[in-house]
Amino acid sequence: MDRADLERLDRDCPLAPCRERFVLPDGVLYFDGNSLGALPRTTAAGIGALVEAEWGEGLIRSWLDAGWFHLARRAGDAIAPLIGASAGEVAVADSTSVNIFKLAASLLRDGGRPTVLTESGNFPTDMYILEGLVGLLGGGRELVRAPPGGIPDAIDEATALVLLSHVDYRTGAVLDMAAIAARCKALGVPVIWDLCHSAGAIPVALNRCGVDYAVGCTYKFLNGGPGAPAFTYVSQGAIGGFEPAVTGWFGHADQFGFEDRYRPADSIEKCLVGTPPVLSLRAVLDGVACFDGVDMAALAAKSRRLSDLFIALADRRLARHRLELASPREAARRGSQVSFRHPDAYAVARALIARNLIPDFRDPDILRFGITPLYTRHVDIWDAVEIIDAVMADRAWEGWAGTREAVT
Ligand SMILES: *Cc1c(COP(=O)(O)O)cnc(C)c1O
Repeated sequence: MDRADLERLDRDCPLAPCRERFVLPDGVLYFDGNSLGALPRTTAAGIGALVEAEWGEGLIRSWLDAGWFHLARRAGDAIAPLIGASAGEVAVADSTSVNIFKLAASLLRDGGRPTVLTESGNFPTDMYILEGLVGLLGGGRELVRAPPGGIPDAIDEATALVLLSHVDYRTGAVLDMAAIAARCKALGVPVIWDLCHSAGAIPVALNRCGVDYAVGCTYKFLNGGPGAPAFTYVSQGAIGGFEPAVTGWFGHADQFGFEDRYRPADSIEKCLVGTPPVLSLRAVLDGVACFDGVDMAALAAKSRRLSDLFIALADRRLARHRLELASPREAARRGSQVSFRHPDAYAVARALIARNLIPDFRDPDILRFGITPLYTRHVDIWDAVEIIDAVMADRAWEGWAGTREAVT
């Protein structure tokens, strides 16, 4: 296999035209779309038109005339098919961190079971939010961080709530959602799934897996832009009994009845709290529209093909540089990324960025390459491995060794 073979694969790839949906700077190999998705071609004009016509001309009338009131729900409905959910089960608001708090606080209101469970090494904000909430609620509750691989065994009758990342942000390892959801249902334990590294990256089947609660961000694989609001999913089966813990006026049954008392809406909109970020929601719609007409199975197949290719080339070219594969080898157990361990991963990342190859460094020793099948090409993988090989061979990263302390 050589570069020409990969050019051929790109020519024949049914998803190749999707790359045109993005603005990508020339000469940059972007492997960080799992941290900040690339800019969709329509976003700037979409926001510009909203600002000038809906805000500038329409002024306050646009809350109704331009449908601003229902943008959170509309953006949720656009995301729903990408995560195996139905219309009316997803709303876009607030950050993932805040949405975790909103769901967890509501699910823990009844007391009873003592243990709030997550996985050690889970994304920091997930653990921090639970830590704060458990402290706030008191009542003898305890946050337990199961050792990696300790899920699902750690889930038992003492568990009040489980919060799990579907895809591990460091290694890309995927949890078995269907099996864990079934075990939790049998034990009567609610689970919140964090889909930050799954939504728009791999097939997610919330309804089919019997999942009731999930959150995820829109600025990663969904291309909603920096700081774009996150989504919350509550299943049709669970929404009726779901009592919001954070009770704001956008979640009220009759927002403009201006009643003294809170009454929750009877829909997913009960998960909303305050006035939505209209401009950012517009950008979320543009980001999600990049998936229009894209078959998620084809997307997943391309993700697997690209990451398998990355691993095969790394085996051939990079093993001699002490880059150790940190992601599962088996494609079915891997999200849309390939991670390596290296003792000087931070310095290596800096050296790669200096050569216009953009990966991510994750503490303490992870070099992470996000694969975004809407715009990553087969030749990009080839070129990336070439650059990594060169940087390692001439030890270009050594100039950055020890500089991390200086910048953080
Ligand atoms: C990116 C990410 C978050 C981010 O949360 P914010 O509130 O948007 O900052 C949370 N959880 C996981 C697993 C993530 O990957």
